[in-house]
Formats: sequence, C-alpha cells, structure tokens
Amino acid sequence: MPELTPSLTSFKERVHPMSKPEEKTKEKKVGPGRSGLQLEEPLLFEQSQKGRRADSLPKLDVEAQPIERWIPSAYLRQEIEGFPELSEPQVIRHFTRMSQWNYGIDLGAYPLGSCTMKYNPRLNEEIARLAGFAHLHPLVPETLAQGALQLMWELEGFLSEITGMEAVSLQPSAGAQGELTGLKIIRRYHEQKGNPRKKVIVPDSAHGTNPASCALAGYEVMEEFIGKKGILEAKTVAERMNEEVAAVMLTNPNTLGLFEKEILEISEIVHRKGGLVYCDGANLNAMLGVCKPGKMGVDVIQLNLHKTFSTPHGGGGPGSGPVAVKKGLEPFLPIPRIVKKGTGFALNFDRPQSIGRVRSFFGNFGMMVRAYAYIRTLGCEGLAQVGPLAVLNANYIRERLRPYYHLPYDHEPCMHECVFTDKNQETYGITTLDIAKRLLDYGFHPPTIYFPLVVSGALMIEPTETESPESVEEFVQAMIAIAKEAETNPQLLKDAPHRTKVRRLDEVKAARELKLRWQST
Ligand SMILES: *Cc1c(COP(=O)(O)O)cnc(C)c1O
Repeated sequence: MPELTPSLTSFKERVHPMSKPEEKTKEKKVGPGRSGLQLEEPLLFEQSQKGRRADSLPKLDVEAQPIERWIPSAYLRQEIEGFPELSEPQVIRHFTRMSQWNYGIDLGAYPLGSCTMKYNPRLNEEIARLAGFAHLHPLVPETLAQGALQLMWELEGFLSEITGMEAVSLQPSAGAQGELTGLKIIRRYHEQKGNPRKKVIVPDSAHGTNPASCALAGYEVMEEFIGKKGILEAKTVAERMNEEVAAVMLTNPNTLGLFEKEILEISEIVHRKGGLVYCDGANLNAMLGVCKPGKMGVDVIQLNLHKTFSTPHGGGGPGSGPVAVKKGLEPFLPIPRIVKKGTGFALNFDRPQSIGRVRSFFGNFGMMVRAYAYIRTLGCEGLAQVGPLAVLNANYIRERLRPYYHLPYDHEPCMHECVFTDKNQETYGITTLDIAKRLLDYGFHPPTIYFPLVVSGALMIEPTETESPESVEEFVQAMIAIAKEAETNPQLLKDAPHRTKVRRLDEVKAARELKLRWQST
C-alpha cells in the first residue's frame, strides 16, 4: 500500500521549496528558535486564466432582464481591466496560504518594542462575536442598545480606576487619534481661560506621533533633550516653562523603557504656570496595577486598548485609543457622552463645551468589548500581575543580553522594554538591520529597530508578560547565537535572512513607488 501520509522530509521540501538552508545544516535545526518565515505566492493576477470562474450557476428558468433596469448604465462597467479570473479552490488556497505565512502573535514571540504585542486571549474574541454585540447596528435607538451602552459605561469606569483619572471617552480609534483628542481638549481648556497658548514641550525621546499630534492641534513643538539619565529632567522643564506653554507631553515609561521619575516635580512646575500635563499612555503595561498616572499630576492620558488591553493589532486593523481626563476637563470630552438615565443608559449630545466628535458613531466598539472581557477576566488581582511580569521579562532579557549587546542606559532596571544598540557588533561591520534580518532565520519577529531615534542603531525589545520563561530564553538564545555569528561569520549575517522565501528586501521601495494597479507585462 502506498504511504498516505507524506514523510516529514517531503513535507519540509513542500513547504520550503525555495529555502536554502545555509551550509551543512540541511535537515538539522539551525539553532535556537524555529524555522524561518516563508513568503511566496503568485498574485491572483498572475494566476488568472481567461474565462475561469469560481461559480457555476444553473441556467435561468425565468426571462433574463437587462441589469440597466436596476442600475443606471452610467454606473455600469463593461469590463474591469485585468480583473483576475480564478476557480474557487484557487482563491481559497491563495488566501489560506497567505494566512499561514503571516507571522503573528499566535505563532510565536513578537518582541516589537513600543508596540506591546501581547497574546490576545480567545475568550475576548468569543465575547466580541456574541450576536448581541457583533450584530448591533450603530443606528439602533438607545433603548435597544442598553447592553452595549452599559458595557461602554462600565469600561470607562474601569479605565478611570486603572489610570486614576476621572472621566473617559472611548471614541478615538487609535493612540495617535487619542493624542490629538487630548491636545484638542487642552487647547479648548486654555481657550476658555482666554488664551489657547502656543507651545507644547515634548522630550526628544517621545513617540513620533507626539510632535505630529501637537502640530495637528495647532501647537508649536518645543523639543527638549533628555538628560544622561534617559529621562526628562525637572530642571529642564523649569527652565523652559512659561505662560506660552500649553502643556508638557511625555510618555511614561518613556521610549527608552525608563520610568519618568521626575514626573511629580515636572507636573508641579507645569501646573504652577497654568499648563497641563499630557501623558502618552499607549504602553501602560509596566504600570498596570502598580501605579496610576492620575496620581502623578497627569491631566490627560490616552490608552491603547490594542496594546495594553489585549485587543488584536498589526496590519492596520481597528484600534482604540480612549482618552482619560481629570474632572475639570470632562466638559470638553467628545460627544456623545454615555450617561446614566433612570435605571438605564442614554447618550448625551447636549454638551456645548465639547470639542465635538472625533469619530463616527462610538469608535471601534468591537475593541471595547475585547478590552472589557480582558479586564473582567483578569480582575483586580490578575491586572496587578501584568505590570510586574512584563517588567520581569524585559529585565531578564536585559540582563541576559547585556554581556553581548551594548546597553546605552544601564544605570537602572528597565520597565516593560529594554533598548540595546549594535555598537559591540560594529567592529565586525554588523548593524542592527543585519541582526534583525538574522532573527528571521531563527523564527522570531525582530524587535523594533532604529527607534527611539535618540539611540543610534537601537534594538528595542518588549517581550510582554504573556511570554513564558522558556520562550523568552529561546529568544535570548537566538540573540546570543547572532552575537557570536557576528564575530565568527559576519558574512552570514550580512546575507541574512537565508531561510525566508525572499532575502533582503528594499525596505522602502513599496512605500516610495506605490503600485496600486496591476499591469500585465
Ligand atoms: C503605539 C504608540 C502610539 C500610537 O498608537 P497608534 O494606535 O498606532 O496610533 C503613540 N505613542 C506611543 C508611545 C506608542 O507606543
């Protein structure tokens, strides 16, 4: 009888037809980690065959009608040029293959710093798919959406409690949109006092979205240099703070993975001159259950549900960037606000001081359901473990890799992420990019590279609390192996990745030369 199940070798050959395992390691594991990323699939356009169809409809048993009867001919096209023609299995296989070649958090560690790629529990998905949530139309009257309104109202309460703030709007649908919303609130606050002010102080360690949001909100950015300690220093703020400055905008923990220790003093200085303190809370992982930004003098903060609160992200999917404020700023929050009415909930649009809407309807509701499920399943005790475990994992990596990679800020433990550089590998002509590419061969998504900009050749690693000690160690082993290869066989790194279907790609070509239309050649 023929063997029905393919042997492991033939399976390997099938899924890795283009991979060229380096040197003599053909069938053996190349080292720590798993196999390389696999990427290759012809475009649908390339697979197209004229006349091939995915459907086979029965002959009409009624008289055919011209489609122009329903759709005016001005809106009808005779042909879509180059439209791919394929069978159903071709289409299904195309998308299934590509879905399997996609690297995601469900496949392995994803240590992308400043992104908090934590595992997204399946329970969240289950809850978000409940028909009552998933099929609710955003235009149904309040009376028929009581459950959804209650969920949003309670989530606002949880986020207030977690951040130590006093009012929350769930409307912004990304971290950056939350920042813009927060800055508009700050502008409105100052306007009401008679002068919107001109400037916002932003440390140079800030996330790139911070200065962009300031500019969009009509503020001039005063970029401040972080000191030797890697944080914004109170004395720097004291020198620059005056009545032209609307706010200080900082990220805590900052993009170096360090806690902004002088924040209390900074808040005091800013408040004394009538300014406000904005905290970018996109990465709240290190703080969860440990401390509250509201107690640090922060007036406005945005959170990224798609980072800290385990809703899926990446690939430009829906996000959610709620904004939390202190009581005095509550009247400026976007409309509508969810309010208690009798025993139920209602939407309040009658808020003359509001900055208005920032999003259609209520924001990305599905993300709110997931975050709500996450918070409810972990509870207070569970949430309180997130911060310490995230910090422990990051510091484990920091200490394990310290003998191999240069650590620019090494005077104190890090928070949820640690930042190395390629300085030690420079002697062998190896750069951060080479290290990141070689990680693909070991089956890991690389960390964030060349960010923050204040660190030359940065490798920004954030393991998150959801990685087990084994998987964190596996990543460490891969990084150590790469550090050794840099010394003994730098060319191997220069040519990496070896085990992916495509090798070194032009990092910017796709963005610089947009090709939005298929042209057969
Ligand atoms: C991710 C991130 C942002 C931006 O969030 P988006 O949802 O991508 O807009 C802003 N600030 C920091 C610190 C971040 O890590």
